Amino acid sequence: MSEIRKVRGFQDIYGENAKKYRFVSDTARKIFKKYNFQEIILPYVEDVSLFIRSVGEATDIVQKEMYVFEDKGGRKVALRPEGTASAVRAYIEERLYAKGGYHKLFYEGAMFRYERPQAGRYRQFHQIGAEIFGVDTPLADAELIKMVKDILDELGIQVRLEINTLGDFESRKKYIEVLKEYLKKHEEELCEDCKSRIERNPLRVLDCKVETCKQITKKAPSLIDFLSEESLQRYEKLKEYLKSMNIEFIENPRLVRGLDYYTDTVFEFITDKIGAQGTVAAGGRYDTLVQQLGGPPTPALGFAAGIERLMLLVENLPEEEPLTTVIPITSDFNIQAIETADKLRKKEIKTELLLKEGSMKSKMKLANKLGSKYVVFVSEKPELKDMETGEQEVFENIEDLIDVVTKKVKEV
Ligand code: ATP
Ligand code: MG
Repeated sequence: MSEIRKVRGFQDIYGENAKKYRFVSDTARKIFKKYNFQEIILPYVEDVSLFIRSVGEATDIVQKEMYVFEDKGGRKVALRPEGTASAVRAYIEERLYAKGGYHKLFYEGAMFRYERPQAGRYRQFHQIGAEIFGVDTPLADAELIKMVKDILDELGIQVRLEINTLGDFESRKKYIEVLKEYLKKHEEELCEDCKSRIERNPLRVLDCKVETCKQITKKAPSLIDFLSEESLQRYEKLKEYLKSMNIEFIENPRLVRGLDYYTDTVFEFITDKIGAQGTVAAGGRYDTLVQQLGGPPTPALGFAAGIERLMLLVENLPEEEPLTTVIPITSDFNIQAIETADKLRKKEIKTELLLKEGSMKSKMKLANKLGSKYVVFVSEKPELKDMETGEQEVFENIEDLIDVVTKKVKEV
């Protein structure tokens, strides 16, 4: 029979990679908890218009990358390409704002984008992200960036932080008009992609990687000259807070992000270690989005990090608990072996009950292969073997043996 292969751009995460995935995810969750964020588990399928109205009609995500289909009821739906739109929809739909105060939410899960697969870029990938709804202080911007930094530090990942401000909606609109004028004058010199971006998404031209485009945008009018006093002050405050927390950053006036909904603060954590796909975490403010999606005016901000990209940078996994393997010396002792394994597991000890039958030699070989640190032989006189030192000890009863292994395992 012919084998069935996974679909292009999708992958199985197993073995060491699954451990890395779990390490990244658990670490983020630990930090989210410390910052008092609450989890929200969001659907994978949404009405397609949610993304058109938030991510933006003209963005690459909506234009080219979304998995869109009609369900059997004739609804036009999309596999979510990102998490913020869903979080905002839920914030509005579940009337979280009616509870007053402000809300800090985090999420984790798969996202889908029909992109060209390469290292660090897949069609199904996973993000962890967080959103803060209902606060407009620059303190919130600083706290969010600090939280992302804490996650990266805890993972042992070194990256640089780049920040920029896009200004409020009005000043950005003014700037976009001026930028368009400028780009039109240089249209002939731009790459094909950027030519089509002039009308669709002119800001995106600013972070084009093509050398000729870079040269042209270098001389383009600068967004900073169009910013309102309020935007500038927010940006100054943010920088002041980051400095006070000893978080190094680079100001990058070209940092624009690929989604339409951002306003004011934007940031990216970037590495040069994994090639062109260097952005591991990114986010910013989106003060108009809640209203744009039908909610009350609500300042908000958030970030998302790509788990697969973080996994590429994780070098050291936390040490694993030692494994204890229980072997009945003959099948007559199977029931006692089941009981012994149960008792060990109740003591929180990672226990393998050897499931295969065969000679003692083959069983020991298997125990070795499994990476057992201790082996418990179940017979009339139970025995404990330390696989590293080769030491072996006989016990009068299984309770005494269990006490000894527990002590040994918990000591390290
Ligand atoms: P990029 O410029 O790399 O395409 P982006 O601007 O599209 O990133 P966001 O939409 O801000 O990225 O998503 C946040 C993070 O999710 C990215 O920084 C990255 O770590 C991760 N990410 C985005 N797209 C993919 C993908 N196709 N495969 C793996 N990870 C991804
Ligand atoms: Mg992208």
